[in-house]
Amino acid sequence: MSRLEILQVPVLQDNYVYLAHERDSGATAVIDPAVADPVLAAARQRHWRITHILNTHNHGDHVGGNLAIQEATGCRIVGFGPDRARIPGITDTVEDGDRVELGKAVAEVIFVPGHTRGHIAYWFAEDRALFCGDTLFALGCGRLFEGTPQQMWPSLQRLRRLPDDARVYCAHEYTLANARFARTIEQDNAALAERSRRVQALREQDRPTVPSLLGEEKATNPFLRADQATVARAVGLPDADPVAVFAEVRRRKDNFR
Ligand SMILES: [Zn+2]
Repeated sequence: MSRLEILQVPVLQDNYVYLAHERDSGATAVIDPAVADPVLAAARQRHWRITHILNTHNHGDHVGGNLAIQEATGCRIVGFGPDRARIPGITDTVEDGDRVELGKAVAEVIFVPGHTRGHIAYWFAEDRALFCGDTLFALGCGRLFEGTPQQMWPSLQRLRRLPDDARVYCAHEYTLANARFARTIEQDNAALAERSRRVQALREQDRPTVPSLLGEEKATNPFLRADQATVARAVGLPDADPVAVFAEVRRRKDNFR
């Protein structure tokens, strides 16, 4: 059952901030406010009262609006406990497996280290909404700033275990560049070719490619497919374990222009 109305607010160069509004209670969460003003304006326009901020990790383009939104609304700020010193204004610390209540909607906290050492995702199972920050992108994944492939691959596997109809609300519009890279890995993946065309058409019209469906990520995102023989062969590691294949795909993406 769908309890949440989700609004996507594009800000800065390519960030997406989300507002999730639970209709029955009126509770409204902002996920990863890079900035405050456009978010406050969007909430005001809809007559939504912001009650929570949910942070996936500490980077400035995810927490930059925390304090100004908190000052304007008095909202609570939820973040990963061990990261409390680097999440401005944090009031509620959570850990892996915790439940976050937003009115009658409930999110499960999933610890997904790799992009940073304290990255978490929020999974609203009933609404099939996954807020995954900079861990999983449409056709991509986050850079490993503080983590290792040994951490990131299991993190991505945890997200991959969620249902195919989960909507992936990631925090950046990187899909077009990701599609160009993904095509260099799986040249014979028909679903990827078809999706790349769709992504290109959407971007030509300046339309968002996010959210995507997790099912299409499973079929086309090379970072979720490091345990597929096609991907292992493509990066010249046919007999390697998935962590090594994932590490090589990530390394190639880091050097891709
Ligand atoms: Zn980040």
